[in-house]
Amino acid sequence: MNSIAYLNGTFLPIEEAAIPVLDRGFLFGDGVYEVIPVYGKKPFRLQEHLQRLENSLAETRILNPLSSSRWQQLLTELIDKNEGEDQSLYLQVTRGTAPRDHIFPDNTPPTLFMMSNPLVGSPAEIIESGISAITEIDTRWSRCNIKSINLLANVLHRQHALDQGAKESILIRDGKVTEGAASNLFIAKSGAVITPSRGQYLLPGVTRDLVLELAQQDKIEAIEGDIDESQLTDADEIWVTSSTREIVPVTMLNGSPVGNGKPGAITLRLNHLLQQFKREFQNRAP
Ligand code: PLP
Repeated sequence: MNSIAYLNGTFLPIEEAAIPVLDRGFLFGDGVYEVIPVYGKKPFRLQEHLQRLENSLAETRILNPLSSSRWQQLLTELIDKNEGEDQSLYLQVTRGTAPRDHIFPDNTPPTLFMMSNPLVGSPAEIIESGISAITEIDTRWSRCNIKSINLLANVLHRQHALDQGAKESILIRDGKVTEGAASNLFIAKSGAVITPSRGQYLLPGVTRDLVLELAQQDKIEAIEGDIDESQLTDADEIWVTSSTREIVPVTMLNGSPVGNGKPGAITLRLNHLLQQFKREFQNRAP
């Protein structure tokens, strides 16, 4: 499938997109990114993703290269130029290209890159059976609320999970759960839902916030607060969320079943509500 990307003002085939080796994203990981799912050619939760991008740029003091309306225009063009009703948009902004020096360069325009990939999503058997996860000490930095392109710790955590036959690593900092290596985390215990509070140790996930909204509308008791490691191992249900994988039940934790070892009733209910919400979104006029 031909994949059309966007780089610094130009749409072009992905194979032709190249950046200079002095780009600070390449040398320092000095940049931020977003991943936005597209359903039926329409970007989902676009305002929320653009707001989080704005926050990441402000936190890293990188100039936002585009206005919100220009972002929307370019993303619409990117979606149109790529095949497929459902896509996964990746966009990245770095501090630009300059002689290597830790100090911010003067008068250097940010690098802006965007691409579209097919949206694969979670296969049906994942919802039916869930995934295995492991717990690990969170080795990341203390500004995880920034969606930074520095993902080395996340990459190592995720690979470590895979090496142990699991699909996600659930991260623990000072005895409390933060999130997954590439997802937010929820537990349910005796009918009540808990997800860790926003803050510097986790990414404010767009899917996380939507799941909280859906729970509230459905009168499911859901709170944001600390989850001790012992509450995690004692949970009736665990699930993780992300824009591309949506709601994923965790049915095995460190080799032991979670609850009865099957996706729980609250996980399935919230997944049903999310799928319904997506359908309504797709059917709405553009
Ligand atoms: N936390 C981390 C570390 C992530 O990498 C991601 C997504 O990739 C998420 C949470 C979920 O965020 P969202 O629901 O906005 O995709």
